Amino acid sequence: MIHQTMNQSTEARVPRVRFAPSPTGYLHIGGLRTALYNELFARHHGGIFVLRIEDTDRTRYVEGAVENILRTLKWAGLTPDEGPFLAPDGSVQERGAYGPYVQSARTEKYRHYAEELLGKTEEASGQSYAYRCFCTPEEIESLKKDRASSDAAPLPGLVPHARNCRGLTGEESAALAAESPYVIRLRVPDRVGRVEFTDSIRGLVRFDYSSVDDQVLLKSDGFPTYHLANVVDDHEMEITQVIRGEEWLPSTPKHLLLYRALGWEPPAFAHLPLLLNPDRTKLSKRQGDVAVEDYRAQGYLPQAMINFVALLGWNPSGDREKYSKDELAREFRLEKVNKAGAVFNREKLDWLNGEYMKEMPDEELTEVVIPFLRIDGVLTEVDGGIKAADGSPVDREALRRSVALEKGRAKTLKDFAATTGYFFTSKVELSRDMIPWKKSTPEVAKERLYGLRDRLAGLSEKYFSDPKLLEAEIIPFVAERGWTNADTLWPFRVALSGRERSPSPFEIAWAIGKKRTLERVEAAISLL
Ligand code: GLU
Repeated sequence: MIHQTMNQSTEARVPRVRFAPSPTGYLHIGGLRTALYNELFARHHGGIFVLRIEDTDRTRYVEGAVENILRTLKWAGLTPDEGPFLAPDGSVQERGAYGPYVQSARTEKYRHYAEELLGKTEEASGQSYAYRCFCTPEEIESLKKDRASSDAAPLPGLVPHARNCRGLTGEESAALAAESPYVIRLRVPDRVGRVEFTDSIRGLVRFDYSSVDDQVLLKSDGFPTYHLANVVDDHEMEITQVIRGEEWLPSTPKHLLLYRALGWEPPAFAHLPLLLNPDRTKLSKRQGDVAVEDYRAQGYLPQAMINFVALLGWNPSGDREKYSKDELAREFRLEKVNKAGAVFNREKLDWLNGEYMKEMPDEELTEVVIPFLRIDGVLTEVDGGIKAADGSPVDREALRRSVALEKGRAKTLKDFAATTGYFFTSKVELSRDMIPWKKSTPEVAKERLYGLRDRLAGLSEKYFSDPKLLEAEIIPFVAERGWTNADTLWPFRVALSGRERSPSPFEIAWAIGKKRTLERVEAAISLL
C-alpha cells in the first residue's frame, strides 16, 4: 500500500509548482484557472511557477497551440518564472535551469526510465515494475469489448492480454522485442491493496489497485504517454505541489505507483473542482465560449478575467468580489478551494468587467477601446491618423471624452462600438419625427433649437471644457425664456446624438466640441 508522506526535506524546499498544458487547442477557461492558481500559490509562498508544455501526444498536437497558450497567458498577466515564453520577435524561447521545458525535446529521458523499470523488481511481488506488451491496439480493444460483454467476473482493473504479456519471463520478452513492436506498461500489483494520498483540497483519496489499469508508459514509437512524461518531469523539475484539474484525479494512483517504482518522493497533489454551466452540466463549448481568446475578443479586460476566474471555486472571504492579483496572491490558500464544482456565472464576469472599466483612467481605457472600435468599423486608421467611419478626422480628446461618457454603461470593450460611433462622424443620422419632445411640436422644437444655437454660438470655448459649466449656463437660460427643460433639452440632445437614449446634451457637446455642436443643431433645424 502506498502512503504518501511529506518529509522534512520537502517542507524545507522552495515550493515549486507548474502549469503543464498540452498544445491540443486553445487555452480554455479551466486551463487559465489552473495556471492562475499555480501562480497564486507560488507568489503566496515565495515559490517558483514553472510552465511546461506536454506535447508528447503527437496525434492531438495542434499547430499554433503553443503560441496561443503563451500569448493568452501573457495577455492575462500571468508570468511563469521558468519555461517557454514568447520573445518580442514572436519566437518561442525558454528560461530556467531545468529545461528543456517542452516534452518533445526530452524524449530520451522518458525512454531511459521506462527501460529502467523493465529491469527493476518490486520486492513484494518479485516482478518487474513494468513489462513489454506486444498486443496490438486492435487486440486490446477487442479483448476489452469481449470482457465487457461476458458474464464472467472481470479481472479487476488489469488490461487483458491476448498474448499474456504480463506473464512473459524477462528472456521471453527480450526475445520477442527483437522482432515485434511493443509498448511498455506499468505493472499494477495484482494483490489486494490500494493507493492512498491526501489531496490538498479533497483530503484522503483512495484507489484500489484493482481499479487501476496497466497504463502504457512508452508507446511503440518510443514516445512516452502523458503519465510517464508527467511524473519524470515533475520529479526532475523538483515540483513540490501539483495543482491540476479534477479530470486528472483518476491518473494520480498511476502516478503514485510510478513514483514508488522509480524510488522517488512524490509531490503533494491538489485537484481543482470542475467548472460548470449554470445548469450544473460540465462547462462546454456547446453552452458558450470556453476559449480565453474568445473572451478577449469580446472585450473583457485581463484584470476582470483573472479576478473572475480566481473566484471559480474559491473565495478569500464572504461577500467581497473584487480583488487585484496581488490581493489574491496574499489571500490564496489551496485548502480553502472548494471540492464542489464551480458555476460559471457570466453576469458576474460582466459586472466585474464593468467595475474594472470604470476604475481605469480614461486615457488607458481609450487605448484598449480603440482596437475594438476599429474592428467594428467605427474608426479606421488612415496615414497614421484615426478617422471616423465617414472619413472625418477623429481627435484623441474627443475619443477620450466619449469613452469617459459611456464607460459607466458598458459591460465590455466591445460595447463602445455601438454607443460611441455618432461622436466621431461629421453628421448624425436624424429622423424628423424624433426631434420634438413627445408632448411638444416641431414648431416648438425649432424655436428652442434656434434659441439654443444663438446662445451656444455666443459662448466661449471654455464652456465646452466641462459639461457642468455648460449646463450651469443653459439651464437658467431655458428658465429665463419660460421654456421647459423637457421641450428644450430633448430636441437639443436628439440633434446631437440622433438617438432615443444617450448621455445628456451637455455631455455630448463637451465630447464633440463647440463647432460640431453648432453644426448638428443647425442640421436639426433644417429638418424641421
Ligand atoms: N498535460 C496535462 C493537461 O493538458 C497536464 C495535467 C497535469 O497537470 O498533470 O492538462
